[in-house]
Amino acid sequence: MRVLITGGAGFVGSHLVDAHLAKGDEVVVVDDLSTGRLENIGEHVAAGRVRFLQGKAEDPAIIDPAFDGVGLVYHLAAAVGVFQILAHPLASIRTNLDASSAVFERAAARGIRTLFASTSEVYGKNVSDALNEDDDTIYGATKVNRWLYAVSKATDEFLALGYHQELGLPVTVVRLFNTTGPRQTGAYGMVVPRFVRQAIEGRPLTVYGDGGQMRCFTNVHDVVAALMALTATPAAVGEVVNVGNPREISIGDLAALVCGIVGSDSKVQLVDYESAYGKGFEDMRRRVPDVSRLRKLIGFVPTTPLEATIREIAAEIAAEIAPGR
Ligand code: UDP
Repeated sequence: MRVLITGGAGFVGSHLVDAHLAKGDEVVVVDDLSTGRLENIGEHVAAGRVRFLQGKAEDPAIIDPAFDGVGLVYHLAAAVGVFQILAHPLASIRTNLDASSAVFERAAARGIRTLFASTSEVYGKNVSDALNEDDDTIYGATKVNRWLYAVSKATDEFLALGYHQELGLPVTVVRLFNTTGPRQTGAYGMVVPRFVRQAIEGRPLTVYGDGGQMRCFTNVHDVVAALMALTATPAAVGEVVNVGNPREISIGDLAALVCGIVGSDSKVQLVDYESAYGKGFEDMRRRVPDVSRLRKLIGFVPTTPLEATIREIAAEIAAEIAPGR
């Protein structure tokens, strides 16, 4: 089968590329390399295993040829990370909405099985014990750019479900909860690679706010396995599905855990939100997935321990900064 992955040079996308190639599929990648990195898929491209089209998923000159002979689509291309969204609000909203329309339109016209990568951000300020896909979304004011990402991804979800309802697009919407692992760059927010790099380099770990905010971190390999299983599950068509590891940890405890694993005596430096993100930023206090729908659909949920994921990231960063490289 030929698989199209938009955002395939990015963090999650490139791991998905690896997994589909390992299965023997052909892979086409569309990526504008705004946050994705060619080196993530460089070897595959050089060896002719991946057809790489560099450009915007909303550009017909890119996306039309990309659909040639495709039997499965993952739409991952999107504005990534809180820093990026705060710095470039217009481009972020355009990317998220225009690219999704372009991809869903073509996939619907051809009846191609599609997976859309949304985010746990769409729950907004809802801090329930375990967020269920049918729970309310709660957003702040439109003057606060923070909510632009959540609202644009939620609008993409409406688009995907609208294409499903009215034009029969066989789509599954997944909400990813703080996915992390090798190849994730800390440049756009992403707390785990940031802390690991800070610890390895002996710099202070920048904990924003009081460090009491809670998150659940999911290993990227678990996420890829779940996404592939979902696209092979007919009952997942037309569904919105949380993908995450339900184990919860505070950001303060994450900092201590990273230092312990890396063997670093770096100290924690508390940074107020305004210094980190600028004025008027609102952080989510808590975000925990209810994964019962995922378990029911595919029979498993992400379970890789955060400790193992931190070790994987640390090994990659240590190799990268080793002397002689
Ligand atoms: N965070 C932090 N220090 C950093 C980067 C992030 O304390 O250097 C916090 C951030 O404020 C948030 C959590 O870690 O509460 C997770 O941030 P990330 O950007 O990884 O993902 P988010 O959950 O915001 O989508």
